[in-house]
Amino acid sequence: MSHLTSQDRTKIRAALEHQRTNLIKAMQAALEESGQTQFAEVLGRASGDSADEALAVTLGNLSAARLDHEVRMLRALENARLRLDDKDFGLCVDCEAKIPAARLVANPVSTRCVKCQDHFEHTHAGQSHGTI
Ligand SMILES: [Zn+2]
Repeated sequence: MSHLTSQDRTKIRAALEHQRTNLIKAMQAALEESGQTQFAEVLGRASGDSADEALAVTLGNLSAARLDHEVRMLRALENARLRLDDKDFGLCVDCEAKIPAARLVANPVSTRCVKCQDHFEHTHAGQSHGTI
């Protein structure tokens, strides 16, 4: 049984959609600025499940277009959205502690409790460009 109420999930979903929309807007702006309007266009259409394949291809191209961080964030958001209804959503991936709903609303892509996130950042600092 999850510690998150359906109300919590609704709030987290809203926060997630909000971040996703903002991120896509920022990516579109960056692409248009650099003249890569063909990608910006696909991103604009990329809502809902039917666009997933096109989005995946676009994200592959965007990774090469120096939007690596944004692409990773967008993927994390998509991932969180898919897992939102799972019974173990909101549990720390390291210690299985219950991540507070407020933390998930503030940052829907959190997969660790504060303690484990701290530990992870300390032990993995500077290694983010390792194997994928
Ligand atoms: Zn933890």
